[in-house]
Order: sequence, then structure tokens, then C-alpha cells
Amino acid sequence: MKRLAVGMDIGGTFTKLVAVSAAGRLLAQAQVPTEPASGVNAFISRVSDAVRSLERPLGRKADAVGIGVAGDVDADGGRLRFAPNLKEFEGFPLRDAFSRGLKRPACMHNDANTAAWGGYVVEFKRGVENMAAITMGTGIGGGLVLGRRLFLGSTGSAGEIGHMRIIPGGARCGCGGRGCLEAYAGRHAIVRAVKRLLAQEPRRRSVLRSCSGRIEPCDAAEAAAAGDPLARDVWAMVGRAMGLGISNLVMLLNLDAVILVGGVSRAGPLFIGEIQKSLRRNPFRTPCRHVRVRLGRTSHLGALGAGLLSLEG
Ligand SMILES: [Zn+2]
Repeated sequence: MKRLAVGMDIGGTFTKLVAVSAAGRLLAQAQVPTEPASGVNAFISRVSDAVRSLERPLGRKADAVGIGVAGDVDADGGRLRFAPNLKEFEGFPLRDAFSRGLKRPACMHNDANTAAWGGYVVEFKRGVENMAAITMGTGIGGGLVLGRRLFLGSTGSAGEIGHMRIIPGGARCGCGGRGCLEAYAGRHAIVRAVKRLLAQEPRRRSVLRSCSGRIEPCDAAEAAAAGDPLARDVWAMVGRAMGLGISNLVMLLNLDAVILVGGVSRAGPLFIGEIQKSLRRNPFRTPCRHVRVRLGRTSHLGALGAGLLSLEG
């Protein structure tokens, strides 16, 4: 019988669940509130129930369970080392608890790493050898598939693309450092850039002026798509920052592909041109022309990739 997995993507607010075939086909999906404050045991029992309900219509149990979680994950130990949005789960042997409760093997990785694996199998059909996935949301995360394997680094922390310094002494980042990619292309950076431009150029007309109190990246995307020049400047900044980060990655790793995923990547058509421009300007033509940068087309890549990784063995 063809192998089947359940994948989950645990975020601070919701936990997404998918049933996925070994070839990467989405067979079923569900979502449950994470509610970390209700405690880790309540969370595990709630999610385990949801896994069983997901499997019922499929008429069989999944062979393995894969967990993707936002934070610094000890993949060997199956625990979360550090997770600002899931403090209650830190240190708990989450992977083994799911494995025991659901009576099957389980694996656990950082959610950007599982998204990278999801991208590799689902979007590229394993047709590339070296690729990176960049998750664009509140934070900027990343995962690397090198030599057709998920690359975790020495402590499982590889691929923290959002915290590569792109501007020495630059803008303050949520991590406490300065000049990180996330400080120029993460959600807060986008909102900050809109507010800064509105304040710096009080005479410049922009539809964003009417919602200056609570601006979200999607407002800036809508405005830019409608031709608002100030909003377009903001996305150009995001594109230049991403271009710099991706050029650095390409120089270091000579990637075949980079895939952009996550909420903010939905605005990708507004800034992917700047990324391409920055790659074209790089004097190292061979690697910079070789790499394909594209926007993810599949939802739930983090959960799909987690499930698929659990089948890798
Ligand atoms: Zn940072």
C-alpha cells in the first residue's frame, strides 16, 4: 500500500493538519486552535483527536507523523528549545508524546525547514538539487535543502536567513540585533517603512494616509497594486533587501532555486522584479543567472513538508 503521513504545522495561534501521500498530494486538512495557555497536555490530546478525525474518512491510519513548529527545534531530541510564541511548550518532549499517543513514528523540525522540504517535494517534484525556502511573515525564516537533503547545520539552526546581516549597524531587528534581513522585509519593517515615508513626505499623496493608524502589509500591497507610488517605494525596499539576502545565499551555496512562501510572499509580484534586478547586477553571472526565484503556489507547505519528512526515514 502507498505510504501516507499526517503533517502538522504548529503556530502560536493555529495548528494546521494535513494528510499527505508520499508523492506530496494533499488528501485532507484541518485546523485547530493551538491555545498554548491551556497547557501542553491539553494541546496534545486536542491535536491527537483532530488527527484521528482527519484519518477516519481516509479509511486508514497514517504511517507516520511529522511536526513543524515555529521556533528553535532540537530535531534529535524532539523538543522546542526556544519559541517566543509557544513558551509553554519549551523543553517538553513534544515529538515523543505525539509518537506514543498516536502509536507511530514521529519527527519534529522548525517550520521553515519543513516548508523547505514541502517546497522541494511538492513544488519542485524533487527536480532540483540545492534550494532554499524563505518564509515571509511577521518574521523571515528559511530552510535549506542541499544535495537533496534537508540541511540542519551543526545544532539544527541552519537557514536562519532572516537574521543574516545585510546592513551593518542598520535597523533594529526583533531578535535584538541590527541590520538583519527581517528588519527590512518582515511584517513590522513593512509597516514601519509605510509610516516613515508618510511622515517624511507629508505632501505626498497616498491612499495609505487614510489608514495610517493600523496599516498591514496587505494594505500596502493593495495600494501598490493600484499604482500608489509611496506604497510601490515600500515594496521596492523589500525587494532590494530580499535581493541582497538572496544574492548572498546564492554566492554562498550556488542554489538551483529559491522559493518564497508565507503571507507576505503573496505580495511577491510587487517585489520579485527587484530581486531579479539585484541578481542580474551581480558580477558572478553563472550562479546568479542559474538560480530560479519563484513564489510558492501551494498552501500548507509547512504541514505538507512535515508529513513528508516523517516518511523519509
Ligand atoms: Zn534579527
